[in-house]
Amino acid sequence: MFLDRDGVINRSIVRNGRPYAPLHLDEFEILPGVSQATRDLRGAGLSIIVVTNQPDVGAGRQTRDVVEAMHDKMCAEIAVDAVKVCYHIEADGCDCRKPLSGMLLSAAEEFDISLGKSFMVGDRWRDVDAGHAAGCRTYFIDQGYDESLRQTPDHFVADLPEAARHILSMTLK
Ligand SMILES: [Mg+2]
Ligand SMILES: [Zn+2]
Repeated sequence: MFLDRDGVINRSIVRNGRPYAPLHLDEFEILPGVSQATRDLRGAGLSIIVVTNQPDVGAGRQTRDVVEAMHDKMCAEIAVDAVKVCYHIEADGCDCRKPLSGMLLSAAEEFDISLGKSFMVGDRWRDVDAGHAAGCRTYFIDQGYDESLRQTPDHFVADLPEAARHILSMTLK
């Protein structure tokens, strides 16, 4: 189970219809129901891997220390097996920045995960396309941003708890 971070696990900061990562630790707020959803998923045997683009670090607007402090807080509140972060900006030409699938592929290798049996949950086109590029089933949380999808996700859900309920209803059959 691959989870995007901002807008899926924690609240995004939305300005003029566009989502931004929180810049300060005290703005990092886990969304309702997310903690329990991750525990339920892990209880069903799924690994929870967070895959997040944090280009503010590469752009010099954020420090790695603050991002890591947010991830300490996140890992204390929800069930997480690993956190993969792309700190690059587009111009770096890395292979980890979503919509590329580098973070998902490296986690799959590291944890011996079958990508065809995996899910990617995100709130932006980059998440959907990265999930598809890795061969995963995709869940899109529509937060109503001023941004269009490029590929069509497999499922539309209101939030991570709804995605979790859907996945658990299928895997428990
Ligand atoms: Mg997001
Ligand atoms: Zn990268």
